[in-house]
Amino acid sequence: MRLVEIKREIPVVGEFDIVVAGAGPAGICAAMSAARQGSKVALVERFGIIGGNLTSGHVGPLLGLVGNGTMRDEITKVLEVEQYSTHFDVEKAKINLTNWISHPNIELFLNSPIVDVVMSGNEINGVVIGTQNGMEAIKGKIVIDSTGDGAVSFLAGADVEMGRREDGLVQPVTIMFTVSGIDKEQRIVCTHEEDDTVIPKGNYLDLCRKASETGKLPPTVNIVRLYKTQHADERMVNATQLNHIDGLKHSDLAKSQLELRNQMLQVVEFLRETVPGFENCKIKDSSDIIGVRETRRVVGEYMISSSDLLAGRTFEDVMVHKADFCIDIHNPDGAGQAETEGCPPEVEPYDIPYGCFVPKKIDNLYTAGRCISGSHRAHASYRVMNICMAMGEAIGIAASVCVKDGAKPRALDYKKVQKIMTDSGVELFD
Ligand SMILES: Cc1cc2nc3c(=O)[nH]c(=O)nc-3n(C[C@H](O)[C@H](O)[C@H](O)COP(=O)(O)OP(=O)(O)OC[C@H]3O[C@@H](n4cnc5c(N)ncnc54)[C@H](O)[C@@H]3O)c2cc1C
Repeated sequence: MRLVEIKREIPVVGEFDIVVAGAGPAGICAAMSAARQGSKVALVERFGIIGGNLTSGHVGPLLGLVGNGTMRDEITKVLEVEQYSTHFDVEKAKINLTNWISHPNIELFLNSPIVDVVMSGNEINGVVIGTQNGMEAIKGKIVIDSTGDGAVSFLAGADVEMGRREDGLVQPVTIMFTVSGIDKEQRIVCTHEEDDTVIPKGNYLDLCRKASETGKLPPTVNIVRLYKTQHADERMVNATQLNHIDGLKHSDLAKSQLELRNQMLQVVEFLRETVPGFENCKIKDSSDIIGVRETRRVVGEYMISSSDLLAGRTFEDVMVHKADFCIDIHNPDGAGQAETEGCPPEVEPYDIPYGCFVPKKIDNLYTAGRCISGSHRAHASYRVMNICMAMGEAIGIAASVCVKDGAKPRALDYKKVQKIMTDSGVELFD
């Protein structure tokens, strides 16, 4: 690779207690909980809208369970979600979340991709954003990496892992989209591999598999998941799939745009031909971005593993209690699930401990959301949005306690964080 050198002074456009990098489900909750503790927060987002996969990625419904009383319950109300399996309205979510995040202690930096960090020894002094005015720096005492991709941790030199141990492969990428124009009287739902829906032509899942084998659907698409939305004549479709894509490489993402958008057309054709009530369905909207399920996992003081999840392990330094979602590994090397034909392995409600959020080597950094410290299999469970929100809330509080105490994450008395959470009604212990 050819290298060029750039050396220049850049303006500092703000100094904050806490810089939250990435405004997805984890980041918005981290920013809000820190702001409510009185910290001055910069919430820095590369896109022009907050919400991450929840808005930009058209991802839903909100999956996963956590203990009672977390910010996830508040967000559910903000999104006006009534039923667990119903997808929220993405447009309403953009408006409602933007209103919700307005807080005097939060300054929102949109269209501000973080492209570098300013280091002082093992500490991050500030993040560098790329703007239409060139590069600018935002300084903070504590940085929370909630970029999903672990971008800040990587730039700061933290250790990261990616993919499954044996071959480094990650879960496939997808473009989510919604179809409208379906007949309200004859409509089916298919939320997972275990759904057993029979339509006149046969069992729906068998028809999906057959279509994939005969070339009516792409070989990587052998299930077309159809979720209810808040409108009776619509279904949100989670089906398109491309394997062997590195979600950190722009060339792979460009290739995915082309292939997945063409897959959308094939999926719609399949629905029109196969499913009663879908004869006139059409694409209503789709995610602008490629839905990337898995990239970096930042190595922390503790790495949670699938054995912790399967045993429903509890920890003294719990930050998220009763996290609950199956080990949902979309096959990195083909269609369907990686480990089972049908339903993915269930877990026992488990704790996520403080050590998962504290990266090794860097002294003033936390992670929150899908880039925390865990194994490939554990990640397939804790990556869902409800669990990521609860992580963000806890780590926003932890960062504020660091600021108040002048402490560093590794040395923080986590019991202080737990007390603030339980005092406000968050369930952390049985
Ligand atoms: C196709 C697909 C389907 C899914 N289905 C479901 C589902 O049905 N239900 C469910 O609950 N979960 C689902 N998930 C998982 C879930 O969406 C994610 O794991 C979750 O959104 C992770 O939250 P997060 O806050 O960690 O990251 P994200 O939602 O990815 O948010 C990260 C934010 O950081 C920003 N960012 C990244 N890099 C930078 C940078 N350098 N500078 C500034 N900002 C940056 C991003 O733009 C983004 O806004 C799905 C995921 C995919 C891809």
